[in-house]
Amino acid sequence: MSLLQIKNTHIHAIIFDFDGTLARLNIDFSRMRNAIRELLSSYGIDGNQLANGFVLEIIKEAQALLNRQSEGAASVFVQRAYRIIEAIELEAAERGDLFPATRKLLQELRFAGIACAIITRNCRAAIVKTFPDISDYCAAVVCRDNVDMVKPHPEHINKALNIIAIPRHHTLMIGDHPLDIATGKNAGTLTAGVLTGHFKEEDFLKSGADLVLKEAGEILKMIKRPEEVPKSERQNPC
Ligand SMILES: [Mg+2]
Repeated sequence: MSLLQIKNTHIHAIIFDFDGTLARLNIDFSRMRNAIRELLSSYGIDGNQLANGFVLEIIKEAQALLNRQSEGAASVFVQRAYRIIEAIELEAAERGDLFPATRKLLQELRFAGIACAIITRNCRAAIVKTFPDISDYCAAVVCRDNVDMVKPHPEHINKALNIIAIPRHHTLMIGDHPLDIATGKNAGTLTAGVLTGHFKEEDFLKSGADLVLKEAGEILKMIKRPEEVPKSERQNPC
């Protein structure tokens, strides 16, 4: 039994995105993209010709291109590219902050018996800079550095689910970007969009989100008190 039910599903775990969902970091992604394109041009690659607009995917695509010429050059490029983006992420983390209600939210979910995890495309050093006591609040924190395939690839959620040992169909993924909804759907969890980032309710509905919340803390309003759960349901472990 769980005190949180969404679409008749008992929720035993919530996996949160970080930036825009639990914290505000204001990472300058266009500066990041420009810096990577500049680095690419020093390798004779026009970054604008690469298919994907997301920085991590641009790096991966460029790495594959460079690999055809020289594995060594590709690996040096990747190291240089990650140094550039990490410097921008750490700078943003220095100025960024957790949303004021984040610690209380994670604490109340734990009191309600709901496991919490965070998955992020950001690096671990930046997350810990913003939220130094994160391990006191979350059973699993899976950053870019901890997976081969970042979200929207399901490996990112799967790694978190393996740590917290909760089945995907009793899990809710919450994020501020349609990519978070795609991630949840790819991994087979329920999904909720939050309006604390740059996207609107219709963007999340279009992405197929099961739920749209003004902010992540709104999920607490959906948690029942134990006495509100019918006796018959209290016997059911799921
Ligand atoms: Mg986000």
